[in-house]
Amino acid sequence: MRNVDTEDPFIKIASLIGGEEYNQVAKALLKTEDSTDEEIAIATGLRINIIRKVLYDLFGKALITGIRVKDEKKGWFVYRWRAKRDHVDNFIDNQKKKILEKLQNRLEYEESSEFYHCGKQQCDRVKFDYAIELFFKCPVCNEPLNMVDNSKLKDALRFKIDQLSTETTTTTTT
Ligand SMILES: [Zn+2]
Repeated sequence: MRNVDTEDPFIKIASLIGGEEYNQVAKALLKTEDSTDEEIAIATGLRINIIRKVLYDLFGKALITGIRVKDEKKGWFVYRWRAKRDHVDNFIDNQKKKILEKLQNRLEYEESSEFYHCGKQQCDRVKFDYAIELFFKCPVCNEPLNMVDNSKLKDALRFKIDQLSTETTTTTTT
């Protein structure tokens, strides 16, 4: 068993994905490389079905690999799991790209029109063209619609987009 740095990026990203259970499974995987689900269950005290769920999720995200080996004692095949620590940066980079895409779509939407709103929290904003059709009355509560100043929101989106763009281009992809 090895000593594990709790600040290890692999553990941190696992915690971010799924919280405490993921954190424990990730730690167990780093402590004992090539563990089976049963060995992780013993090490963490978590239920085996939870561990399998976590392992399959991490496997699906390409953060771990599984090697099928024969269990000599039991005579059947088991999977031994290993952290793909070299994939963590790549994974983070991909997540950032997804967020960036969402922010860019949102900015495009905010830039696509002027927006109008009645000021009530439970009502949605409407675009300019629709506001004209409605004679500037809220379609939900019938109160007058006023133009919404979304320039601060747009500035905040642009700032975040700039920030993420510089971060993602400096990270290497493999
Ligand atoms: Zn309204």
